Amino acid sequence: MARIALVTGGTRGIGAAISRALTEAGVTVAASYAGNDEAASRFKGETGIPVFKWDVGSFEASAEGVKRVEDEVGPIDILVNNAGITRDGFFHKMTQEQWRAVLTTNLDSLFNVTRPVIDGMRARNWGRIVVISSINGQKGQMGQVNYSAAKAGDIGFVKALAQESANKGITVNAICPGYIGTEMVQAIAPEVLKTKILPQIPVGRLGLPEEVGKAVSYLASEDASFVTGSVLSINGGQHM
Ligand code: NDP
Repeated sequence: MARIALVTGGTRGIGAAISRALTEAGVTVAASYAGNDEAASRFKGETGIPVFKWDVGSFEASAEGVKRVEDEVGPIDILVNNAGITRDGFFHKMTQEQWRAVLTTNLDSLFNVTRPVIDGMRARNWGRIVVISSINGQKGQMGQVNYSAAKAGDIGFVKALAQESANKGITVNAICPGYIGTEMVQAIAPEVLKTKILPQIPVGRLGLPEEVGKAVSYLASEDASFVTGSVLSINGGQHM
């Protein structure tokens, strides 16, 4: 029987590419999103993948959302914690709201969504958890103290949970993308991209969402059962 995956933020950008790659690999996918109904219904129309709306920053909403997915689609074997946001600004000007929003959506969400999913994985002795962290959680990034802290936290989460879960057939891994050509990055002025960003990337281009999707599909597969606690960089050589 097909494995079942939940991809948070699975309706747009990198998440949508992950949802599509898992579907191509024969996995039954459910995709969550926060509030962009138009993008979600377009994605659902194009792919046939069911979509579920809730805020992954809320523990109660996540427990309810996971229950809805499991009632309507089935027990979650593969969880991809992908949903994330940025609220950039220099630290000396950063508001508590900017800090909170980024930590809540990018880090608290890992607890909120994984906690209601993991009991089932442990009971069935099989699971795959993939967390989409960031190159900026590895190296830090000016103007993103909040985001860098949250994404570095994601990596700590992965390494500790991988150790706790290994004897239950559950692998836990992180992917750290560099600049990937989603709406988030396409919003950067072309001149800035050309003169400031591309020169930092040895491969000389932005990554494609599909390149992250394929990696998730591998980590979620049977073949990757000996890969756990790893941090996979997909950044065109920008940081090693
Ligand atoms: P997008 O902004 O394109 O998409 C974000 C997705 O997450 C959307 O589906 C959005 O839903 C959902 N989402 C946002 N906040 C919440 C929330 N509170 N609850 C539920 N869902 C939420 O982002 P990307 O595809 O660019 O990024 C995906 C992940 O990859 C993020 O974790 C990001 O930090 C990380 N990343 C991205 C890089 C890049 O270059 N793009 C580089 C490194 C890491 P909705 O559509 O409703 O808003």
